[in-house]
Amino acid sequence: MATQTRIAIAGSGFAGLEAAFYLRRRLGDEARITVVSDSKQFLFRPNMIYIPFGKEPEGLTFDVSATLEDHGIEWVHQPVTGIDPDARTLITAGGADVEYDYAVLATGADMVPQEVPGLEEHAYTIWTPDSNLALRGALGRAVERARGGERQRVVFAVPPKNMCSGPLYEIVLMLDSWLRDQPAPVRDNITIDFATFEPAYIMVFGPRINAVVEQEFDARGITGHREHGLERVEEGEAVFGDGTRLSYDLLISFPPYEAAVRYESLPGDERGFIDTDMESRRVRGHDRIFAIGDAGDFPVKQAFLALLEADAAADAIACDILGEHPDKAFDPVSLCIMEQFDKATFANVPLQLSGRSVPPVEVREGAEDEYQVGSGRVWRVGKKMLGLAVPMHFRHGRPFHAGMSWKLMEPGLNGMKSLFAD
Ligand SMILES: Cc1cc2nc3c(=O)[nH]c(=O)nc-3n(C[C@H](O)[C@H](O)[C@H](O)COP(=O)(O)OP(=O)(O)OC[C@H]3O[C@@H](n4cnc5c(N)ncnc54)[C@H](O)[C@@H]3O)c2cc1C
Repeated sequence: MATQTRIAIAGSGFAGLEAAFYLRRRLGDEARITVVSDSKQFLFRPNMIYIPFGKEPEGLTFDVSATLEDHGIEWVHQPVTGIDPDARTLITAGGADVEYDYAVLATGADMVPQEVPGLEEHAYTIWTPDSNLALRGALGRAVERARGGERQRVVFAVPPKNMCSGPLYEIVLMLDSWLRDQPAPVRDNITIDFATFEPAYIMVFGPRINAVVEQEFDARGITGHREHGLERVEEGEAVFGDGTRLSYDLLISFPPYEAAVRYESLPGDERGFIDTDMESRRVRGHDRIFAIGDAGDFPVKQAFLALLEADAAADAIACDILGEHPDKAFDPVSLCIMEQFDKATFANVPLQLSGRSVPPVEVREGAEDEYQVGSGRVWRVGKKMLGLAVPMHFRHGRPFHAGMSWKLMEPGLNGMKSLFAD
């Protein structure tokens, strides 16, 4: 036991759990793994999009502490406040600091609605179960008014520095389908606008997704506004950088992002996202510290990419310890399924950094064949399967992407891609 390598993991979301279970499986007793997190609950954030339409949040969480302990992973329920790379210590708010030989920082992102004056006060947002429950209430009230013959204007706004706009597009398309299922004249009495700072809809997923969204907006009577950076929100009016004003009865937004924890001792950008080596997710200048998922500097914040980053970092650590050669370099191929209720849209997008701030990534040159998009009801099944499979694997202490399940699911997914995407 005295020779065990100590690995401390901060955060128990997608990235933290994938890394913890991968390392436990690969290293067995060679490592003493400790997860430090401010929450006992794993939250399957992607399925929060269903909360405004009636799903209860309880089904999206489970208590991770018992699973970790069952798999021989130590658990510290404390907020992490920083890291001391010289003393090799993860610092916690409660003083229960954790010494490490390797540290993995997976504390995710946070929202900064205050960056857009008036946003916090006037807009409904989608980051937490509670904010989605509040949105459910607001949508219910808008529907009641529309049913009573009152015209309602719902405006969606993606402000600059939001780093995961996809869910807001899901909610606007789901809202349209949901309103169409309500008795007349509800949908007729509700106008919907979608304004984004992005030059293309869901810009990080490339031109084909922009075209899909354009087509959906046209078919559904949703008015889209690209390159509309939300500047401030007044009561009843959203004001954009170019002076455009959109009046609203209900404003729905996904605020700007920043890192949930600022690690002052590490290199990072002005939002606290940590500088890493692309392939291994090693923090620049710190061989024994890794930053994965939303906490790191990859500019697309997505659960699927968080899993890939976790596998790359965990593999690099395991190989260091075992004296092997790493073979799971982070390869940013994003996979997403956009819910729309009447169908879903799938995208497989090989990415490369663009070197620009907007958009920060682009479809990888030379990998156009792998850039696949498809829409249809069948993709709703794919979305449901992922929503069941990821939490189920974590509940059983298994990595999802680096595990057997993905190996088994991948041929099925490839089959679906060849039949239902091109
Ligand atoms: C509504 C919505 C829908 C989404 N849909 C999708 C989707 O369809 N597909 C997709 O790929 N992505 C989606 N995302 C994005 C995805 O949820 C995130 O990218 C993903 O959760 C990032 O994983 P993570 O592990 O880095 O961070 P998180 O999952 O946020 O986990 C962070 C962990 O760190 C812990 N933590 C935070 N602060 C501290 C602290 N100070 N000390 C200790 N621990 C701390 C938290 O409790 C948590 O355990 C969606 C996001 C939202 C909000």
